[in-house]
Amino acid sequence: MAAGRIPDAIPARPLEGRVALVTGASRGIGRAIALRLAAMGADVAVNYLSNEAAAREVVDGILASGRKAAAIKADVGSPEEVETMVARTVSDLGPLHILVNNAQIHKGRLVHKLALEDWDVVIRSGLYGMFHCCRAAVPRIVEEGWGRIINIVSVVGLIGWPGDTAYASAKAGGMGFTRSLAKELGSKGITVNAVAPGYIRTDMTAVISEKSRKAMEAGITLGRIGESDEVAAVVGFLASPEASYITGTVIPVDGGWAL
Ligand code: NAP
Repeated sequence: MAAGRIPDAIPARPLEGRVALVTGASRGIGRAIALRLAAMGADVAVNYLSNEAAAREVVDGILASGRKAAAIKADVGSPEEVETMVARTVSDLGPLHILVNNAQIHKGRLVHKLALEDWDVVIRSGLYGMFHCCRAAVPRIVEEGWGRIINIVSVVGLIGWPGDTAYASAKAGGMGFTRSLAKELGSKGITVNAVAPGYIRTDMTAVISEKSRKAMEAGITLGRIGESDEVAAVVGFLASPEASYITGTVIPVDGGWAL
């Protein structure tokens, strides 16, 4: 580019012609990501576990914007259901380019009080879910020769949190998974990154008491809880062609909480 020349026009819909699958997209951060990717031009598969009405509302919002969308029920902890979900994404919307692993069930207690079943639910929805979805989706994305995989982890996987041994393990595992998969797919035109939100206003954090919320906010550099859209904006950037030279990273979106 000649000195002083501004770049050619930046496309308004950089994901036009791309198909995205967002797990856990019926509510919270996943919902915001699905809507963001659709606003950027992608057709979007909206995965959910049980809340069909909420997933349909997200789909209706995307359809109203002129993009294609499908609500797909599947437990990401089940390899069979994930395989069906990925196949349905392709048959309903077309070849897959973007996978966002967002689904997660949160259960937390001090380690000696944590039931084995709860440990299992957390690891199964988060870490196994990421594995099952990538195992099913990667061959299809590789076929397209261009792709983006974005894993939603957490700063809790970096700094730890009392009562969150299972959750922190799933999320720290997700970071190692991200780096390894980035190295597996670097030569195939596919980037793999993780986004690590801090304390974000969703149903997952609605159970936190007012007193604890204030104490947590006092420890956040920006002094406030974050919003789902603030996470979705970073996911949208990583999914865009402009993030072409970023892979294997973990980007915190935490208002400086983990500093
Ligand atoms: P949320 O409000 O609890 O929503 C969870 C979503 O995941 C729902 O759409 C739910 O579907 C779906 N889901 C749960 N288990 C599933 C499964 N086994 N298979 C398929 N879908 C499943 O969660 P959130 O706060 O938006 O969190 C989204 C992601 O951000 C998670 O990975 C979470 O760990 C991460 N995160 C959140 C925060 C935070 O402060 N909120 C902080 C750091 C990281 P249904 O509606 O059908 O139940």
